[in-house]
Amino acid sequence: MKKRPALNIDHEKLRENMKTVVSWCSEAGIDVAGVFKVTSGLASAALDYEACGAKWIASSRLEQLARAKEAGVGIPMMMIRVPMISELDDMVKVCEYSLQSEFSTLKALDEAAIRAGKIHNVILMADLGDLREGFWDLDELVDVAKYTEEVLTGLNLAGIGTNLGCYGSVIPTGKKMQQLAEYAEAVEAAIGRPLEIVSGGATSSLMPVFDGKMPSKINMLRIGGAAFVGALEETCRIYGRRELKVLHDDAITLEAEVIEVRTKPTHPVGELGVNAFGKKAKYRDRGDRRRALLAVGGADFGEIDDLLPQLPGSEVIGCSGDHTILDIEDCERIIKVGDVIRFKLHYSAILRLSSSENVAKYETGEIGCLL
Ligand SMILES: *Cc1c(COP(=O)(O)O)cnc(C)c1O
Repeated sequence: MKKRPALNIDHEKLRENMKTVVSWCSEAGIDVAGVFKVTSGLASAALDYEACGAKWIASSRLEQLARAKEAGVGIPMMMIRVPMISELDDMVKVCEYSLQSEFSTLKALDEAAIRAGKIHNVILMADLGDLREGFWDLDELVDVAKYTEEVLTGLNLAGIGTNLGCYGSVIPTGKKMQQLAEYAEAVEAAIGRPLEIVSGGATSSLMPVFDGKMPSKINMLRIGGAAFVGALEETCRIYGRRELKVLHDDAITLEAEVIEVRTKPTHPVGELGVNAFGKKAKYRDRGDRRRALLAVGGADFGEIDDLLPQLPGSEVIGCSGDHTILDIEDCERIIKVGDVIRFKLHYSAILRLSSSENVAKYETGEIGCLL
């Protein structure tokens, strides 16, 4: 019998999404690094990305990249969270590329690469205002680039890049991308050769591509979100784009099983303290309503806002660690114990569900290697 809760991964839909993302980019002269961290490092998702034309596989976690390599991904691996000094020896064995923003780490990485007998490729990050990782000063970026080029023999300066939107909510406008292009030109002037990579950001940097505002100097994007949840109504709203609608919004879905069905009051009965998460919650009194209790909870998916029930007329009204309450008063379908409810998922729910040991993973469709 199928185990539940179940995370269903439809590789046909996933690959169609990835192909679409890669084709949008390649029309603009941009190569894609396929970011698969939202799946908690599902190797089959990395194989799909490779089959769909990604030039690198990227993640913020070394363990995930190691797993993908083990599974047979042949394209270069890219570490996209600036690494810890303590993981550099492992990193040079697993990854050919990494994003960097500290001089001391670059020097330690150079030594680690030499120890391993490898040349490791680095992309120096410029912080253009989002205030997470990256060199703030152009002069410092250029100095470190020059030093990497001339002194650090274990490293190849592959390029520069930026990240926007993750902390500071800064939008990757054509203007920001132009600034990155100018930074790249300053580095190229200092080292006297063209850079292989100018990496313009993540899913949010697809918007200047759609608008035809991406400077030709930007030749790489690191894309995760678009391929996995790009078409969700909410994602389209965040980016204000209908273009994303052509993607599938159900490549990864959740199935949860109904364990109780009853009509109950909507306002708790008794003196109220705090809920399972230690929070004082608010309850709207809507009288008695029919609800289904599901065997999946916040411990698995995080926040109920990240679940989109596919049962018409239903609404998720709350959860504890291991239970979810679904209002089904307005549903036409008769719901009974043992029924299965399907959900589309926002990014953070996929992130959590894919790493939960309580959630079974079912993969359908051929994986990777179709090219
Ligand atoms: C997660 C991440 C990405 C991918 O972001 P999406 O919005 O999922 O496309 C790109 N770059 C870095 C540095 C990241 O951490």
